[in-house]
Amino acid sequence: MKALFKLSLHFIAIFTLTAITQIGGLIYILTLTLTKAYRLSKLSSLGLFLVGYLVFSLLILPIVAPAFGRTPLPLTGNLRPLNYLTCLLNRHYVRPQLKEQMEQIANRMEAKFDGTKTNYLDANFPFFDRFPLLPHLSHNDGKKLDLAFYYLQNNTRTDSAPSFIGYGVYDEPADGELDYPTMCREKGYFQYGLLSAFVPQWNKDDYKLDVERTVELISLLVEHQATGKVFIEPHLKERWHLNQLDKIRFHGCQAVRHDDHIHTQLQ
Ligand SMILES: [Zn+2]
Repeated sequence: MKALFKLSLHFIAIFTLTAITQIGGLIYILTLTLTKAYRLSKLSSLGLFLVGYLVFSLLILPIVAPAFGRTPLPLTGNLRPLNYLTCLLNRHYVRPQLKEQMEQIANRMEAKFDGTKTNYLDANFPFFDRFPLLPHLSHNDGKKLDLAFYYLQNNTRTDSAPSFIGYGVYDEPADGELDYPTMCREKGYFQYGLLSAFVPQWNKDDYKLDVERTVELISLLVEHQATGKVFIEPHLKERWHLNQLDKIRFHGCQAVRHDDHIHTQLQ
């Protein structure tokens, strides 16, 4: 009975690590094998897992991923992660065309708004099409990328965001605006706005969405010939007078709400 319980815990750990990082489950299995073979202590085993994971994530994956048609997004410069955890979890891989497009756009943003850094959020894993990057089911082919909105703090431009992961602090519909968050919730899509329950909201009042830079970023994405679709919440599309832009679509109630970030994808 105890052995079965232990085995179940190993399976849960492998599944969770694979779902979050893609390669974590594999490193876990390798660690277990070496731990058994060399009768390692729990502490040595944990150390081995951490070192193995870091070596793979930081050194090996960036070299191997191009053979699978993916490349890591930059860690520094005008285009960078909002949170380095995104990269530590291997969630910053895209097709080379998307990297090139986003670097161009981030440089144009910096040229127009001096000093602006464009922050990316979740992209894709390094390997295999149709391997979803949960909870984003569609981020499974290297063509998808989420971008943080730009914000103001005390009416001054900032490179940070109210949510430490970029998701979950929303710019809600005002009275009289299209309200898909309420409509989706009433239809039973409980996941639509679920993230705000897990993401601290204490910074929300210190930040104001920087509409000027955010709309410019959306315009650059839409104008770019490589872009297939852009998702933002319908009330923001209407509020920012972007209704004429066909590439901006509604993502559907089965997704999560997009009044905290922009989703862009290649054709
Ligand atoms: Zn997305």
